[in-house]
Amino acid sequence: MVDALDARYPRNWAESWDRVGLVLGEFERAVTRVLCVVDCVPETVDQALAIGADLIVAHHPLLLKPVSSIAPDTFKGRIVHRLIRAEVALYTAHTNADVANPGVSDALAARLGLTGLRPLVPAEGAAAGEGRGVGRIGTLAQPLTLAGFAALVAERLPATAAGVRAAGDPGRQIRTVAVSGGAGDSFLADAAHAGVDAYLCADLRHHPVSEHLANGGPALLDAAHWATERPWLDDVAAWLGAEFPVDVVVSDLDTDPWTVHAASAQKENHS
Ligand SMILES: [Zn+2]
Repeated sequence: MVDALDARYPRNWAESWDRVGLVLGEFERAVTRVLCVVDCVPETVDQALAIGADLIVAHHPLLLKPVSSIAPDTFKGRIVHRLIRAEVALYTAHTNADVANPGVSDALAARLGLTGLRPLVPAEGAAAGEGRGVGRIGTLAQPLTLAGFAALVAERLPATAAGVRAAGDPGRQIRTVAVSGGAGDSFLADAAHAGVDAYLCADLRHHPVSEHLANGGPALLDAAHWATERPWLDDVAAWLGAEFPVDVVVSDLDTDPWTVHAASAQKENHS
């Protein structure tokens, strides 16, 4: 199964700073149940153990930065110990799954009903070609106002406390949309250059957003990081289930760290 995952999400498609592939686990061990998660955190490890999974396929790397200890009194060391003791393997497909076709942003675009998909930033190097790249650009079947599109995004993506916020004129007409699962600051210029009506991603910040809008860029939508990447798990699960005689479970545990959303009554639902 590791070979098949590596073939679908080759390690050399990942960014040089990224750390992907098998994190821990025995290559020879048979897999009968897989849990697909965005984040390998204590809560999703609990879930893996509860359902008797032999393998966790995660989007985010558990060990991105070098560590000098995996002692069980460290956050990540504790996770490593629990997984090894329970004989649960861990596999990560991160930026190599972002650029894949189909990849993380295809699943996000599909949730929103976008069609005619093409990469926002075509892949270069090892991953170049065949529609691969970061983010996707597509078209809505019917134009919507920005407020209407934000409502659609909130409706179609997995629910989170953070919800969805949009930047720009609420009445702006939206037809062509760029999406990128996860943090999207670094592709603001690409979205502007592509001439789309709106760009949806996660983790946007005040100054880049203000400057982008002041420069006449597309309207922006900021959703919870987890919610933008969760749709991809269905794609991985469907593929694994078709390729192998295994049970595949998709985790719907919301691992977004933002757990409370509040707005003054005066500002809520103003558009
Ligand atoms: Zn992410």
